[in-house]
Amino acid sequence: MLRYSEELIEEIRSSNDIVDVISQYVILKRSGRNFFGLCPFHKEKSPSFSVSPDKQIFHCFGCGVGGNVIHFVSKIENLDFRETMELLANRANIQLPTLQSSYQDNKRAMLKSKVYEINEIAAKFYHENLYKPTSKEAQEYIKKRKLDNRTLKSFLIGYSGTSDELYRVLKQKGYTEEEILASSMVLKNENGRFADRFRRRLMIPIQDANGKFIAFGGRVLDDSKPKYINSPENIVYSKGRNLFGLNIAKKGDTKKIIIVEGYMDAISLYQRGITNVVASLGTALTEQQGRLLRKNSEQIIIGYDADGAGQAATLRGLEILQNMGCDIRILQIYGAKDPDEFVIKYGPERFQKCVDSAISLVEFKVKILKQNLNIENVNDKIKFLNEIAQILAKVDNDIEKEVYIDKISQEYKISKEAIYAEVNKLIYSRNNTNSKKHVEKAPIKSFLSF
Ligand SMILES: [Zn+2]
Repeated sequence: MLRYSEELIEEIRSSNDIVDVISQYVILKRSGRNFFGLCPFHKEKSPSFSVSPDKQIFHCFGCGVGGNVIHFVSKIENLDFRETMELLANRANIQLPTLQSSYQDNKRAMLKSKVYEINEIAAKFYHENLYKPTSKEAQEYIKKRKLDNRTLKSFLIGYSGTSDELYRVLKQKGYTEEEILASSMVLKNENGRFADRFRRRLMIPIQDANGKFIAFGGRVLDDSKPKYINSPENIVYSKGRNLFGLNIAKKGDTKKIIIVEGYMDAISLYQRGITNVVASLGTALTEQQGRLLRKNSEQIIIGYDADGAGQAATLRGLEILQNMGCDIRILQIYGAKDPDEFVIKYGPERFQKCVDSAISLVEFKVKILKQNLNIENVNDKIKFLNEIAQILAKVDNDIEKEVYIDKISQEYKISKEAIYAEVNKLIYSRNNTNSKKHVEKAPIKSFLSF
């Protein structure tokens, strides 16, 4: 009989976010740090079933059931432990061991832990290198970017020199070629020679939420291209699954968390006392990143250039996050091209003011709409009214809807009655088609047993 190791059970549990899983069975609404909904295990009219994203547990104040994601699935699907593990492992794309595969799994786990070690050694090696007299050009750059020593230490910022010294250090410590190459810190060329991947770059280690070293960003010191070289994805690193700076931000208050595009934005804000900030590692926001954010904070402030190129993709990403139950705001900054420049120019107090007045996704969409239309023109004004009605019809909360309609009416000089009329028209036609669809839809299997 095959038994699951404690590590595997933990991996399966932590890879299945409880809010995500329960959302497939129960409609959850956020209130403070927790989510609430109608308990699927007893009949009730007002929600007493709560889910905590921080603790990754659920509890019903009505009937007293509770536990973690494994307990929930086992109970709601009526499965035994082994079946529950299979379902959750499958959901998270985790391979469950068979007798033949456990040798392979052990080998892979060993290699992973070696790569974490190598990355940490590299981070410390580059960091110490930064202070050496031979690293003058990096020290000049640090001065130019106004990074202070406390920041350098917090992020373990470093400098990769001109030789293949890291490779020699790793060899000397006894790491095998396989392990060194798996870390991506060293490359092997056609002649079989080994060379450090990063040279003459400012080295920014990327850590996961638990502080493990998983990758590096390397920035050039001058204006040459490419500006950044990053570690490729490998056995420990997958960029869409991580957020730069989360391990550091987590040490402080992350009720609100600001997400910026570049490492330098995050580092620069941190140095000026704004510590609830992470960077998205250059990708459009992914669902996994959304889950990390939701787990650690109540409100997500999007601090990147959502007005610029790739606007449609950004908006889609934000909608995904919103649908996952994240409360999203969009930061509006003027007079600087990014948060780094802004905070240097105007200081942290003014930046904080921008954070406090960040706008909702609905307001942001209306704003973008307005940019592309001339509402002095009658046709454009009608089009504007139609499109804002589309946006507002999706807002479930009536009070929220009223607030938006008030604001839009004042700001764009359209009567409230006209907006309400359009919105209600849409809601009416949507409800009609929905109720038809509902009849055709088969009920969800899991609900049948209650
Ligand atoms: Zn209950």
